[in-house]
Amino acid sequence: MTVFTTKSEIQNYISALKNDIKTIGFVPTMGALHNGHMSLVKKAIQNNDKAIVSIFVNPTQFDNDKDLEKYPRTLDKDVSLLKVLNPNIIVYAPSVKDIYEDETKAKEFSFDGLEFEMEGEFRTGHFNGVGTIVKRLFEIITPNTAYFGEKDFQQLQIIRKLVTKYQIPVKIIGCKIHRESNGLAMSSRNERLKPEYREAAPFIYKILKLAKEKFGTKSATKVVEWVEKQFEKHKLLKLEYFSIADTETLKPVKRKSNKKNYRAFIAVYAGDIRLIDNIALN
Ligand code: AMP
Repeated sequence: MTVFTTKSEIQNYISALKNDIKTIGFVPTMGALHNGHMSLVKKAIQNNDKAIVSIFVNPTQFDNDKDLEKYPRTLDKDVSLLKVLNPNIIVYAPSVKDIYEDETKAKEFSFDGLEFEMEGEFRTGHFNGVGTIVKRLFEIITPNTAYFGEKDFQQLQIIRKLVTKYQIPVKIIGCKIHRESNGLAMSSRNERLKPEYREAAPFIYKILKLAKEKFGTKSATKVVEWVEKQFEKHKLLKLEYFSIADTETLKPVKRKSNKKNYRAFIAVYAGDIRLIDNIALN
């Protein structure tokens, strides 16, 4: 199992590797790996000659210093899990300095408006940070294909926009959301939930499923009102936003059209832990 911590080492390794292999599959992560991450890694292994996983908690995509500071960092455990899955996986776990050198700052991106909806509205600058790190990692790793989870569906659409706009030759694959048996979407942040919040959190997916059912017969506005009411009644979980949006533009639905695809998106505070989830509606 090889773990590289500097871009010069991994770039040397990759340029030598390219003489022998055809395809690199890449999975960017912030670590604290769980089965959701692992499902992406399995796809990268199955469909490529080499799988590379990056583990890097990217400071420029956090709008909250406490969240960044408390983000779980479990590199040794992550490497062991990957090794069990397949010892040929390559890990890139750089320092902040290796990525950002002397200026830990995000570049400015335009994602044609996708960046202003939902997460963009509530996490200022988040997608500039995401764009900066993913573009830089793609330049370092030069993968053929990269795997992203639908768990962060807005991020997935933004990465698709990034590669199109900047003509980056990386194929983007979206992967299904992995859930606990109680429905809670797997997330590195779940580890930090206090027991009472962990018990309460499956309510989020339960409401998403009911919202999907209601969307079959009711308007988006009615479904949004219903969801907001369910959270007003909840003692522990605080709703930040619930939006029913077009999967292409991510803009809230005004009038339903059967030619479009819609998803419901949600962000909820469970104490000081912010959880997001989404569900396809049609
Ligand atoms: P993160 O480490 O949270 O930045 O996530 C790294 C990648 O794993 C992103 O593409 C996420 O969307 C994806 N991911 C995180 N959680 C899940 C999940 N529960 N199911 C599927 N993919 C996930």
